[in-house]
Amino acid sequence: MNTAQPPGDSHPLDRDAPVAGEADAPPFVWPLHDEAELNKDRLELALEAAGLDLWENDLVTGAVTRQATKTFAELGYAPEEMAAQMLDLYGLFHPDDVETVRQAVHDHLSGVSPQYRCEFRLRSKQGEWVWFANYGRIMDTHTSTPGRRLIGVTFNIHDRKQREQEIAQINQQLREQNALLQQLNGALEGLASRDALTGLSNRRSLMELGHNECLRAYRYGYAISVLVVDIDRFKDINDSWGHLVGDRVICAVAHQCQSRKRAGVDIVARFGGEEFVIVLPQTDNSTAMRVAEALRAEVADIRVSAQNEGEMQDIRVTVSIGVASAVGGVGGGVDGRAVFEALVDRADQALYKAKGMGRNTVCGGGAAPALSAPG
Ligand code: GH3
Ligand code: MG
Ligand code: MG
Repeated sequence: MNTAQPPGDSHPLDRDAPVAGEADAPPFVWPLHDEAELNKDRLELALEAAGLDLWENDLVTGAVTRQATKTFAELGYAPEEMAAQMLDLYGLFHPDDVETVRQAVHDHLSGVSPQYRCEFRLRSKQGEWVWFANYGRIMDTHTSTPGRRLIGVTFNIHDRKQREQEIAQINQQLREQNALLQQLNGALEGLASRDALTGLSNRRSLMELGHNECLRAYRYGYAISVLVVDIDRFKDINDSWGHLVGDRVICAVAHQCQSRKRAGVDIVARFGGEEFVIVLPQTDNSTAMRVAEALRAEVADIRVSAQNEGEMQDIRVTVSIGVASAVGGVGGGVDGRAVFEALVDRADQALYKAKGMGRNTVCGGGAAPALSAPG
């Protein structure tokens, strides 16, 4: 270390030193022959302050002309161990990083990258992996091809790497939690819109979907029909067979309603206890009446087997169906929700008529009005 001082007792940074011009002595000038030594000191100071360990390789002979001694010391190796390690330098690198380092050296030596940069782990004396980085460049390229010396610095980046890994871990956890939340949200949405017993759309979902279908029918001038399906004398089934068998009958009828559904077009919902609503977009009244009649006949063929006093018996069931239709595209603005509720109401009135006619019957709700004038 250069310890050159200005002559006399005072230092240039000493507050009590005489101010230039005030003293009789001429200002101090560094002797020229000390400049190289001073530069060396300046470099050492900068390296020390920045935590950099300077090394140098002779690319022609392959010799290490300056060793990264601080790094070895930091890793806990004694000087004699360091010398042994220099014979197999790559043995100190984490196996996963060896290729990265080799590639970075190759890229720089072959001129692909203007600097040699890489990050890697080195094994400490205690066997722990510590992150370091290298930054270097070929110097004095004018002397030979591709260059004579590779000079670089090694510095510890372990804290930064650990923070990066922690952040990556947290990000990964967040991604996983988000995916789980999305999954749960999807499941919740499904639960909120489905009837628990039959799996059909529930009443809340029906009102939302039905209102949208009415708006669509109005906008494009389509016909739309609604069927209200009610199991006949269902109370008797419950009374005779019990509530659980009653549930199975509800599910069997629900399944039959669902089997008629045009996927992605029709809406089949459980409206209440033993009552279902089917929305048929782009379907006029006569087609809807045919659909309803077919469904009525199919339900009449259903057999639900249940045990009665140790014997299996078939339960038969019938439904009454009310049908109402409307035609879109007439008149001014339309309130989709009000129109749909009015349509369901008319189908319900038709159902009431069907019950009055003796049940196991389909009844229409009269002429289909324009959607802008529900009634
Ligand atoms: P109608 O032919 O006039 O429709 O007669 P009904 O007996 O079917 O009609 P009512 O409205 O008198 O009875 C419906 C019964 O449905 C009453 C109720 O206890 C029963 N119910 C409602 N929800 C469920 C359910 O989820 N499971 C079962 N098993 N029964 C239900
Ligand atoms: Mg009923
Ligand atoms: Mg009912």
